[in-house]
Amino acid sequence: ATPTALMVGTGRGAQLGILIKGPEVLESTRRVDTVVLDKTGTVTTGRMTLQEVYVVQDADEKQVLRLAGALEHASEHPVARAIAVGAEMGVPPLERSREWGRVEPLPEAEGFENVPGKGVRGRVEGHEVVVGRLIDVLPAELARAREEAERDGRTAVVVGWDGVAHGVLAVSDAVKETSAEAVRSLRALGLTPVLLTGDNRVVAEAVARAVGIDEVIAEVLPEDKVDAVRRLQGEGRVVAMVGDGVNDAAALAAADLGLAMGTGTDAAIEAGDLTLVRGDLRVAADAIRLSRRTLSTIK
Ligand code: ADP
Ligand code: MG
Repeated sequence: ATPTALMVGTGRGAQLGILIKGPEVLESTRRVDTVVLDKTGTVTTGRMTLQEVYVVQDADEKQVLRLAGALEHASEHPVARAIAVGAEMGVPPLERSREWGRVEPLPEAEGFENVPGKGVRGRVEGHEVVVGRLIDVLPAELARAREEAERDGRTAVVVGWDGVAHGVLAVSDAVKETSAEAVRSLRALGLTPVLLTGDNRVVAEAVARAVGIDEVIAEVLPEDKVDAVRRLQGEGRVVAMVGDGVNDAAALAAADLGLAMGTGTDAAIEAGDLTLVRGDLRVAADAIRLSRRTLSTIK
């Protein structure tokens, strides 16, 4: 490999909005046949909003939101931010927030604990509160609400306290406008796209369908994303991974080529071989095309 050709590739990369750790990075992309895409923040915008609050009959919707919001206030997860904002400002449609009148101050949470890939727990107003995927058994009404939300591609978050589920919050995230085009470009390069997420399978499949991905690996804990990549490599596949989150860092490092979204976390950017500066997934295909071209100049 002539260093000059690789340096040219690196310079062209910068023009396209691709930051390359070192010229040698381009070498590994040649044989890539599979591109693993993280869902939240990579294929979707990651900007989530609270859409709906479901409670069992006679239960207090405001209490469900207040306790959930108080806990989620301490978490930086996109789902958590949506819930905290929804609890303070109200939930669409707007009439409902107007009915509540004003911004609701949230109570303090004590003993806050983040359970990666699952949710949060802590003490609020004297209750042991859990928010996320920490309670499996739901009363029939809430089980139906969860199913309905997930069928619509929304993330269903269960709110419970003192060991009992009290409500379900539906949070939704939008697929980026450019994602379907990005997937088409990756396919045009002969690459197989795979969606990888900690989110529920039904939600993941709804997103995959929307962007044209057939292969879905869902309900993966953050520490297991790296194993999912290794398993694909174990099948003889050469894997590029695109991700943005702290929970993607190990997988980005283990992949044959790690592409970090420039709009993502520092942990992801440090772990990746390349950074897609503007966080535009379409540039992932440009990066792979560029490296193939650079390498064919050399060979
Ligand atoms: P992804 O792989 O899509 O980026 P994560 O692995 O971070 O998602 O989380 C997986 C799932 O765990 C989320 O879709 C959500 O259902 C749940 N979850 C994680 N953190 C929280 C939280 N702070 N509050 C509520 N639910 C959460
Ligand atoms: Mg993510």
